[in-house]
Amino acid sequence: MALTPMMQQYLDIKQSHPDALLMFRLGDFYELFFEDAVTASKVLEITLTGRDAGEQGRVPMCGVPHHAAEQYIGRLIDNGYCVAICEQVEDPKAAKGLVKREVIQVVTPGTYVKDGDAESRFLCAVSQTGLLTGIAFVDVGTGEVWYGSVSDEQALLEALTTFAPREVLTSEAEDGLAPGIEAWTKESGSRMSRVPHSSSKSKQELLCITRQYGVLHIESLGLEENSAETSAVGRLLSYLEDTQRQVLSHLKSPQSFQRSGHVFLDVVAKRNLELLETQRTRQKKGSLFGLLDRTKTAMGSRRMRRFIEQPLISVGEINERLDAVGWLGDELFVRAELEEWFARVYDLERLIGKVGFGSANARDLVAIAQSLSCVKGVKQCLAGTPVPLLQRLSNGMPDLSELADKLLATLVDQPSISVHDGGMIREGIDAELDVLRGMHVDGKQWLAEFEQQEKDRTGIRTLKVGYNKVFGYYVEVSKTGTHLVPQEYERKQTLASAERYTLPVLKEREDQILHAEERALAREYELFTVLRDEVAGMIAQIQQTAERLAELDALAALAAVAVEYGYTRPTVASERGIVIQNGRHPMVEAAAPMSFVPNSVELGTSCDFILLTGPNMAGKSTYMRQVALIVLMAQIGSFVPAESAHIGVVDRVFTRIGASDDLGAGQSTFMVEMVELAQILRQATPKSLVLLDEIGRGTSTYDGMSLAEAVMEALLMPGRNPLTLFATHYHELTEQAQALPRVENFSVAVKETDDGVTFLHAVVHRPADKSYGIQVAKLAGVPSPVIKRATEILAKREREAVRLQAELEEDVSVREAAAAFEPPSQKPHVDPEVFDWLQTVSKLRVEQMTPIEA
Ligand code: ADP
Repeated sequence: MALTPMMQQYLDIKQSHPDALLMFRLGDFYELFFEDAVTASKVLEITLTGRDAGEQGRVPMCGVPHHAAEQYIGRLIDNGYCVAICEQVEDPKAAKGLVKREVIQVVTPGTYVKDGDAESRFLCAVSQTGLLTGIAFVDVGTGEVWYGSVSDEQALLEALTTFAPREVLTSEAEDGLAPGIEAWTKESGSRMSRVPHSSSKSKQELLCITRQYGVLHIESLGLEENSAETSAVGRLLSYLEDTQRQVLSHLKSPQSFQRSGHVFLDVVAKRNLELLETQRTRQKKGSLFGLLDRTKTAMGSRRMRRFIEQPLISVGEINERLDAVGWLGDELFVRAELEEWFARVYDLERLIGKVGFGSANARDLVAIAQSLSCVKGVKQCLAGTPVPLLQRLSNGMPDLSELADKLLATLVDQPSISVHDGGMIREGIDAELDVLRGMHVDGKQWLAEFEQQEKDRTGIRTLKVGYNKVFGYYVEVSKTGTHLVPQEYERKQTLASAERYTLPVLKEREDQILHAEERALAREYELFTVLRDEVAGMIAQIQQTAERLAELDALAALAAVAVEYGYTRPTVASERGIVIQNGRHPMVEAAAPMSFVPNSVELGTSCDFILLTGPNMAGKSTYMRQVALIVLMAQIGSFVPAESAHIGVVDRVFTRIGASDDLGAGQSTFMVEMVELAQILRQATPKSLVLLDEIGRGTSTYDGMSLAEAVMEALLMPGRNPLTLFATHYHELTEQAQALPRVENFSVAVKETDDGVTFLHAVVHRPADKSYGIQVAKLAGVPSPVIKRATEILAKREREAVRLQAELEEDVSVREAAAAFEPPSQKPHVDPEVFDWLQTVSKLRVEQMTPIEA
């Protein structure tokens, strides 16, 4: 014999899953062998043992108990592995010889569904068809499916960054794109999985789509045959079939993520405006999402994120949302009550995902039922609303109270987690179950009574009833009492100190006791699966409910924020033009509400281009970001931080905000800057909003200044002319600006006093008269000898040549001035504490900080 039969079975199965760690069910354990065992024992920090495999001798083995498998699988997935779960697919008791085993699911980073995971987890498929590359994403947890197509690698990477999938599928047909994708997956810590490619594959993929959605033609899903998008969606579904081995009935119809109708926000804009996370700490707190996300449910939070990522363009749709936010803001009691209901709603989208997966347990069904029970209350809250959007959302939630009531009436309040251990179904629901349970309980009771009765009858004090697998129930009597044993006792087994007997009446009861429990558990499971199937039959309706609850939750959150911070309703129009009176930066204001200085802006009416000058730290970038944030908030349907705002919708927001290490970082950063700039110059339209900060800083002064001027001219070209805010150090540009039509000079005011400057943070309609670099340095604590010397140099240079001045202003930044300061050993008059502090300050990179951090 070469290998034990079980080992042979293992190897046969492993052969079809070379890329996954195979978890092989053996009784109560999942075992891993060979290389898999070595890997898993390391990752999971469990003991590596061995098992006799036949001729090969002992092979490496490690295992995890089946009831704790979930957690171990999660760890393996988090470490980038795929796991194939191999189960015993027949009852070991019924099996003749070796138990049949099959892989029932392959868990991969992109298909793993983590319990309680509030964030989306996407699987991505990329498929190149002709010149286009199709991309599709699925979140198996919530059932969302998205698709789109791109024509170049940059757009592909952009989409990947937006969805941040945990796993990307490609085949040899995408080899041209592979290096880019591979680099992306490496950097983001996700997995790149190769799937086989063949020409007949596309037909199969098409079939996968029609099968999944039960349609005859993919056109009814809005997809086109032979398109790159269809191929990507097909590849995605085909991979799901291969790995999940079951129909996922909760998958929603695929939607295009490129549907026009949304403001296009690229990764750079999202980052620069801190829409989802802060730039430096990359945390939600401090971002626009952090500010607006007052939602009560996980689905509401995901919806809010989508609101922010996809601001609307349609004035009608925006106004509908604004109406809803306004009404919810005014109706304090309604909102309070709604929030109470939302707080009781579980993550329905994910729960329904588990139902679709067939992995929902009784507890999940109870959570679904409790959530659905809240719908009635939500509807009641909204019964009197005059707002069409709220009416639609409310009426759009189907009445599922019957299902909810049934679930709650059938299932106990706190069902057990395992679906095979009973403890799920209430008493009085099913007659058969109640009888079986009664028999089981009665049986146990009978045994106890029987034992006592026999003790009394025989007078044997040591008599007790026991159980083992060979003889079933028996009576055990210690050697000292055997002479008292009655005649009808039949001896079965002799132990060192005792004898074991059976007797007919005990045998009779045995069957009842043993099998009643088993049958009761089986019956409970059966009743549970009937319920689960019933819920599965309602997936579409429950998803509808979930979506509307999510949207209501997000709208209520916008209302809550608006009320708390005193936001106003913007007027929104499709004609170009942005007029904001006394606007505020929402996040800077939230961090320091008392000290914020509001500022106004007018763009697209008489001027398309604002040239913004002013010293470092005056508030230029805060002002520019504030304008973009207010515009986006309005298009999200949120009220805005301003006295009044009139927003002509924009189609796209571009940002090019001085990357942190522009100063001194040299060529590469400058290249990045230019690439981003080139994109803006090519793609901006008159309805775009463009923020440019410190263009040309990464090169020499003249280079940079010339470039900045050329960019300014290019952006003013008719047909291109987007609404532009342009901040610059080069206040020489202000002269050029004065000569150009539709360009205005603005600056952030500072007050010059004898001791230096005070930042007023007020934007005024005139150019800055100088750079104030030295004054800022002074304010930052650069010691007076350095400041004095700098002032002298400045004066000297100003005398020498006017043209040199520009360079000097570039050079005297806070950091350089501070760095020029020498250590205390050489300048003993400086307090060491002051020196330490200076060193710290000199290391700060103010240009890299967010306004709040600064
Ligand atoms: P700049 O871009 O001109 O260098 P920032 O916009 O980074 O300046 O702002 C510098 C500092 O001033 C930040 O700490 C910011 O919080 C604060 N600030 C900016 N604008 C305002 C304002 N309108 N009201 C209050 N503080 C502000």
